[in-house]
Amino acid sequence: MAQRNQDVVLGVDLGGTSFLVAAVDGRGKLLAQASKKTKAERGFEAVVARVAKVARELVKEEHIAPRALCVGVPGALDPSHGVVVKAPNLRWENAPLAKALEKELKLPVSIDNDVNVAVIGEHQFGAARGLQNVVGLWIGTGIGGGVLVGGQLYRGSHGTAGELGHTVLLADGPLCPCGGRGCVEALASRTSIERDVRAALKRGRKSVLQKSLSEEGSKLTSSAIEEALDAEDSLMLEALERACHYLGLLAASVANAFDPEMIVIGGGLASRLGDRFLAPIRRAAQSQLLPRRGHVRIVATELGDRAGAMGAAALASAMPRRRERVSER
Ligand SMILES: [Zn+2]
Repeated sequence: MAQRNQDVVLGVDLGGTSFLVAAVDGRGKLLAQASKKTKAERGFEAVVARVAKVARELVKEEHIAPRALCVGVPGALDPSHGVVVKAPNLRWENAPLAKALEKELKLPVSIDNDVNVAVIGEHQFGAARGLQNVVGLWIGTGIGGGVLVGGQLYRGSHGTAGELGHTVLLADGPLCPCGGRGCVEALASRTSIERDVRAALKRGRKSVLQKSLSEEGSKLTSSAIEEALDAEDSLMLEALERACHYLGLLAASVANAFDPEMIVIGGGLASRLGDRFLAPIRRAAQSQLLPRRGHVRIVATELGDRAGAMGAAALASAMPRRRERVSER
C-alpha cells in the first residue's frame, strides 16, 4: 500500500510503569498511538527492545515511514549525547538510550525530559497553543516543571532548568526524594498525599480508603482519590485541599518570577479531576500574586496522558532531515 505521508515522526512518552508511542504527521495530526507496560525490572536492553517492537508494529500497521523519533524520559539526562544519566523510575544509570534505539529502528533518535516534552506538547497542540511564555507543572509520583520563554524551552546553563518540584515551600518540612526538605514535591505530589493519608489512618482517622490502602502493595491512585472525593470522604478532601494550597503557592511564585501568560497543570490528578483540582490551586495562588500577575491563566492539560508523546513528536519533527544532516558535514 502507498505510504500515506512522508513527513511522519514518532514521539514516545517513556514512564516507569508504561510507555506510549504516537505517530504524528507533518501537520501535527495524530495518526496512531500504542501503549504497553514498560517492565523496567527486566533491564535497559529489554525496555529498548519493547519500545522498538511497538514502534515497528505501529509503522507496519499504519503503512508509514517515520523520519525521526524522540523519547521523553523521566530523569536526569544528557540530551546532546542521548544518554539517560539517572532515571530511578526506570532503574537506569548512564543508559545510551538514543544510540540503542537508533540501532534497533535505523532512525535518528533524540531524548528529552518527560515534563519538557509534555509542556512542548501543550504548546504545540494543546492548551497553550500560540502563547509565548508558558510554565508547565506536572503532578504525579513526583512534581516536574517546564518553562517556555518566547515560545522556546528554557534549558538553563546545564540543560536542567525547570525543576520546579524542588522549590522549597516549607522550611524543615518533610523529606523529599531529592534529599532536601519541604520541597513542593514532598508536600503535594500524589506520593506525599498518600503518605499523609496513611499517617492519618494510622492515627485512627476513618476514611473510605481504609480498606483499599490496607491491602499489600496498594497505592493511592488518581482514580481512588476521585472515588474518595465522590464519597465526600473528609480525610481525602482535607489532604487534597492541603496539596492544592501548596500547589497554588508554587503557581503564584512561578507566576511572580516568570510572568507567564499561562500555567498548565498536568499529570493524572489534573487529567482526572479537572476543575476539582484546579479551582483550589487558583484560589490559593490568587492571594499571593503580585500586581499585574492576576491575568495569568492556570489551566488543566488539554492533551492529558498524550501530552508527552505528542510533544516528543514535535521535537522529533524539529530534528534536521537526514539529507540536510549529510550535506552539513
Ligand atoms: Zn526536593
